[in-house]
Amino acid sequence: MNVIYFLGIMAVRVRFAPSPTGWIHIGNMRTVLFGYLFAKKEQGQFILRIEDTDQKRKVPNGIKGIVETLEVMGMTPDEGPGFGGKFGPYVQSERLDIYKKYSQELIEKGQAYYCFCSAERLTELREQQKAAGVRPMYDGHCKKLTSEEVTAKLDAGESHVVRMIIPKGRIVEFEDVVYGKISFNTNDVDEQVLIKSDGFPTYQFAVVIDDHLMEISHIMRGEDWLSSTPKQLLLYEYLGWEVPRFVHVPNVLNADRKGKLSKRKGAVAAIDFIRQGYIREALFNFLCLVGWNPDPKVAHQDEFYSQEFLTEHFDINRIKRSGGALDMRKLDAINTMWLQSLTPAQLFEKVMVWKDEVAKKYVIDDVLGVSEELAEQKKATELLTTYLEKNPAIAEDLLTLVQPRIKKLSDIWDWYRFILEEPTFGVDAIKSVVGDKDIKNLITQLQTTIMGLSSWDQEPWEAAIRSYADSLEMKHGDLFMILRVIVTGRKVSPPLRELMVLLGKDFVTTRFQTLLSIV
Ligand code: GLU
Ligand code: ZN
Repeated sequence: MNVIYFLGIMAVRVRFAPSPTGWIHIGNMRTVLFGYLFAKKEQGQFILRIEDTDQKRKVPNGIKGIVETLEVMGMTPDEGPGFGGKFGPYVQSERLDIYKKYSQELIEKGQAYYCFCSAERLTELREQQKAAGVRPMYDGHCKKLTSEEVTAKLDAGESHVVRMIIPKGRIVEFEDVVYGKISFNTNDVDEQVLIKSDGFPTYQFAVVIDDHLMEISHIMRGEDWLSSTPKQLLLYEYLGWEVPRFVHVPNVLNADRKGKLSKRKGAVAAIDFIRQGYIREALFNFLCLVGWNPDPKVAHQDEFYSQEFLTEHFDINRIKRSGGALDMRKLDAINTMWLQSLTPAQLFEKVMVWKDEVAKKYVIDDVLGVSEELAEQKKATELLTTYLEKNPAIAEDLLTLVQPRIKKLSDIWDWYRFILEEPTFGVDAIKSVVGDKDIKNLITQLQTTIMGLSSWDQEPWEAAIRSYADSLEMKHGDLFMILRVIVTGRKVSPPLRELMVLLGKDFVTTRFQTLLSIV
């Protein structure tokens, strides 16, 4: 007999059920995003549930860290710890009585049993099975105990777990929204522990109880959990509960499509993308396209999609079965489009929000530590934004000048660090252009030419520099290049003339003086 389930029409309730690790991996974030979008599209609920039944993996402030990331992404749960909701508590360690009640029910109905096997016995059993070339599984030893034996052991306070009974030779089937029909033979399924010796439930047990009691309609989660599904389906059957829909989402792969995205291979926490200056809208846009795309009838060629568009058109039936890859070049391209779409005021606003996000100390920093790059980035961002705040008259214009040149907000620093750091000059670059001319004399003349002009503006400089270049028989461009190096320290900079207007005469004068003191 197969497990039967119903697909009644129900309110959409999707949960994100992380362990309290303090952070969210970017690959998982994509799966969470699918769940969030689906819930929003269906005007359903997005629920945060914390699965902290593995007490060994507990991290201080682990829940706070998860919530922080969701908030940065703008994905506020409708229900969850700290968010209210009538299905709480939403933290599994606060629900132990509930799990206990259901495990008792299963024991009474003969669908679960106490197991008193010692860790040594289980290890030995596993070794023997491995040596014999069979799949390591519990051998059902404690099922043979009589109820008197069980009572005596419990009364004597013997350490025990509760295991579920798995019938032999049954085919368990279900229809996954992404993977289609999946079937398992119960002969391959181990008699799973439901309650551990510390009284905590296992993930496999708690997840079923909670998904049912919290009226989850769609279990959207990573494909890693596909193989746990048969055990869970049997539990639904034992408890007489309707089975929700399963939507297993393929893993996010590395850009080279070789393997699942891992920390070692440079994958990072979702929050780090934000701190690097990818804006939330762009991350949303990008992540949503990893392993999914909108119906070609509504798709845009440039793949530039707002959250409203994605919510309107998100369709779980279009989740691709093959894992999507995290292609950073595509992320850069999408972020660039987003940044370019902002008005000057919006860009300024984004930079200020980002500044706070970079400055903030997140739980993840305690968990994973702060890298040298991040520490440097924090310093740079602070310098840059303090300057922009202190110079409100030119801040938006400065940002607008580099807007077409940045892929992410942190790139702004590279363009403007010359304003904020010890002056540097590409003196060698100047020398290579000047040739055998007297460099000090040339720079002094250039300074006099520009500073002597009555108006501090682009046209008069332009004319003055061109005629000075003619008098030296130099290419105009070469002289402009020298000026660029003097003002910005580099041969590549934001548009020079606009920059000089914005930074002002005093700034440019100081640059000339500093350079003249060293050549
Ligand atoms: N607690 C599991 C995790 O950390 C959730 C699995 C599920 O969504 O069923 O990924
Ligand atoms: Zn046992």
